[in-house]
Amino acid sequence: MKYDYLVVGAGLYGAVFAREAVRKGKKVLVIDKRPNVAGNVFTEQIEGINVHKYGAHIFHTNNKEVWDYVNRFAEFNRFTNSPVANYHGELYSLPFNMYTFNKMWGVTTPEEAEAEIKKQREEAGITEPKNLEEQAISLVGKDIYEKLIKGYTEKQWGRPCTELPAFIIKRLPVRFTFDNNYFNALYQGIPVGGYTKMVENMLDGIEVRLNCDYLENKAELDKLAKKVIYTGPIDAYFGFKLGALEYRSVRFETEVLDKPNFQGNAAVNYTDRETPWTRIIEHKWFEFGTQPKTVISREYSSEWKQGDEPYYPVNDEKNGKLYAEYKQLAGGEKDVIFGGRLGEYKYYDMDVVIASALDACRKELV
Ligand code: UDP
Repeated sequence: MKYDYLVVGAGLYGAVFAREAVRKGKKVLVIDKRPNVAGNVFTEQIEGINVHKYGAHIFHTNNKEVWDYVNRFAEFNRFTNSPVANYHGELYSLPFNMYTFNKMWGVTTPEEAEAEIKKQREEAGITEPKNLEEQAISLVGKDIYEKLIKGYTEKQWGRPCTELPAFIIKRLPVRFTFDNNYFNALYQGIPVGGYTKMVENMLDGIEVRLNCDYLENKAELDKLAKKVIYTGPIDAYFGFKLGALEYRSVRFETEVLDKPNFQGNAAVNYTDRETPWTRIIEHKWFEFGTQPKTVISREYSSEWKQGDEPYYPVNDEKNGKLYAEYKQLAGGEKDVIFGGRLGEYKYYDMDVVIASALDACRKELV
């Protein structure tokens, strides 16, 4: 066999695994069915602006090892994510913090804000939140739930908030300080020059074959390497034989505008139910762009169907059970490691994907 490892998918998980394997003297081939590397963190220059083609990615982590790792492949700028919520033309600060509470209720102190939330939580009679709606109301009260969470979440996930797991909303901080930083992370930024360049640096000197579909050519490709690192959808690997896992997909409408500034911020979330898109990204603000034009992407969320790009695993009970069955099957594939957001069917952030790839390397590469 020509290679020790065949890495299927040139996204973050695959690129990190490949880099580390090569560092340990292994022979590695990376393949990807797309015409480019970088998976869903792929960025492409339009009008001199790095456009996040598969949705906005803001690198943030508390994991020093991961932060040091990515800094070997890119320089990171000081971008801090502070999305604005637009509810029928009313603008609110995100994540939920004193600016949000002040705009919503006119309160000016943390005590007043906490008292208002407590009152709304008690009125709703929630003691132990069982779903996203109850979790949201108990964290921030009914007003914020209705204006900033309900419509956005139901558009994004295509399911009522009462049927979604509580953990999704726990991703967002709630703060009683005036701090619009969306993430509770020690380290945050955007790789200068775009994510594609960062992943290319990770893959520097490693053989990569693009436009190469693993599942369509599995028998042949399997002959090339002793082991496979598979980062595609786990259900697709098994030909969907237990049924299809559900994903949410996203469609982007990207436009170049002949003006320097469209919305004054990288991300504006449209949190009402009526606006059909979930958010608008203005890409230049990730890198403090000074270009004369601007590029924006409207994001529309949809249920995934075969042929679409899968983005978000739907980590509810039903899909969790089905994933557990696939995972069992995966355990029987002794020469295959399943990794990444799709391979592990987890709503992973970039840093967690990298941490999990580094972990797999520690176990695998001796
Ligand atoms: N969310 C919300 N309103 C917002 C932003 C987020 O209700 O304005 C909720 C929504 O349920 C979403 C979750 O918080 O799915 C997590 O948001 P995050 O920004 O982490 O999602 P991502 O950037 O991964 O799409």
